[in-house]
Amino acid sequence: MGRAFVYVILGGGVAAGYAALEFSNRGVSHGELCIISEESVAPYERPALSKGYLLPEGIELVLGTRVISADVRRRTLLTAAGETISYKILIVATGARALKLEEFGVNGSDAENVCYLRDLTDANRLVDVMRSSSGGNAVVIGGGYIGMECAASLVINKINVTMVFPEAQCMPRLFTPKIASFYEDYYKSKGVEFVKGTALSSFDMDADGKVVAVNLRDGKRLLVDMVVVGIGIRPNTSLFEGQLTLEKGGIKVNEKMQSSNSSVYAVGDVAAFPVKLFGETRRLEHVDSARKCARHAVAAIMEPEKSGEFDYVPFFYSRIFALSWQFYGDNVGEVVHFGDFSGNTFGAYWVNKGHLVGSFLEGGTKEEYAAIAMVTSLKPAIEDLAELESRGLSYAMAV
Ligand code: FAD
Ligand code: NDP
Repeated sequence: MGRAFVYVILGGGVAAGYAALEFSNRGVSHGELCIISEESVAPYERPALSKGYLLPEGIELVLGTRVISADVRRRTLLTAAGETISYKILIVATGARALKLEEFGVNGSDAENVCYLRDLTDANRLVDVMRSSSGGNAVVIGGGYIGMECAASLVINKINVTMVFPEAQCMPRLFTPKIASFYEDYYKSKGVEFVKGTALSSFDMDADGKVVAVNLRDGKRLLVDMVVVGIGIRPNTSLFEGQLTLEKGGIKVNEKMQSSNSSVYAVGDVAAFPVKLFGETRRLEHVDSARKCARHAVAAIMEPEKSGEFDYVPFFYSRIFALSWQFYGDNVGEVVHFGDFSGNTFGAYWVNKGHLVGSFLEGGTKEEYAAIAMVTSLKPAIEDLAELESRGLSYAMAV
């Protein structure tokens, strides 16, 4: 049993949705394109988990279907139901999976009040657990994006939150200590407590298998009604290990998003692509890059002679409580902070090897965010850090 398509998109997330839109904009015939996704719903905007489906019409959807093996030489995929689906061109958009506590030696991830957040099923479950924990206590494990954003949602839903993470500050992959300290103080003003520099060692369960307390390595014990875990992700590359070249934990692709096998492209969280601005291969875990590299891959597939290099400035953002920040570029080198850290608008520039390579801004206007995006893409030479500091945001606005 089997079906054959010209184009197959493997995965049903953000990158898959944008690739499908791009195929549709450029015109694919009925029956030419198929999306295979383990999820039971069409691709949707993951950040909002809003059920705003991304799917144009005329595309074969194979939902609720996990691909269990791939043969890139034969150009076939085998589904868990035993169907073989063949392709001329494959776009791998398998994204990533949330890391589980078990991978750090702690059991209990499957308890009914322990929540992860990666897809719609997780989001629905989190909402149910949150509703039944109103007025109670939550422990949030991890101080990254999921931890920060979920902690804010829990507080808004009247749940007392304690955040636990091993580092000295929240968002260590991006924030400087000064920036982190602003957000931590803001969270504290909303009632969030922080337990830093330690990790979870075990859960205490009741007779129904519900977690009632969290034990930490530093000896603390926190009583809980629910737990949210956001301790990072791993790209879903396993189907292609040994068949495609991998780098930085993802599928290595060239400037056309094409892998080491010319019939296979990779986009989104699973792809490690050349970022021209940094002169190196990076794997990014954010929607803007998922959307843009998916569109770029389809353009390169359908009009190879017209599609140029993928020239992408990394862009990350978050909105929490009444706050909102954006970041462009790379956070390496020396940091210059600017603005009013006790007020609403402040930021930072990163200067590496004499050039501005990264910009962060909290509380900016549309024009101000556009300005820091622009200045970062130009990578201007910076001779005097003190001058950059004193000019602050006006430096970007003047470029
Ligand atoms: P995904 O969206 O994860 O999609 C992968 C798809 O592949 C899934 O449908 C999965 O079921 C399917 N799949 C995987 N393996 C198989 C298989 N073997 N067979 C069949 N199907 C398979 N980024 C931002 O920049 N800003 C934000 O505000 C933001 N908010 C976020 C909020 C949440 C709750 C989450 C989880 C992420 C957020 N992100 C945000 C990150 C962003 O959503 C990801 O970078 C983006 O979803 C990556 O898209 P993707 O298509 O590569 O992967
Ligand atoms: P992140 O990588 O952002 O953060 C995970 C955090 O958990 C890190 O600080 C990590 O520390 C820490 N950690 C690792 N192991 C443990 C442990 N055993 N106990 C406690 N803390 C631990 O991942 P998230 O899970 O927060 O987010 C998942 C994905 O979703 C990411 O790809 C993220 O980009 C994406 N996302 C993006 C959003 C946005 O862009 N606004 C919003 C929501 C999600 P260390 O660094 O030391 O390993």
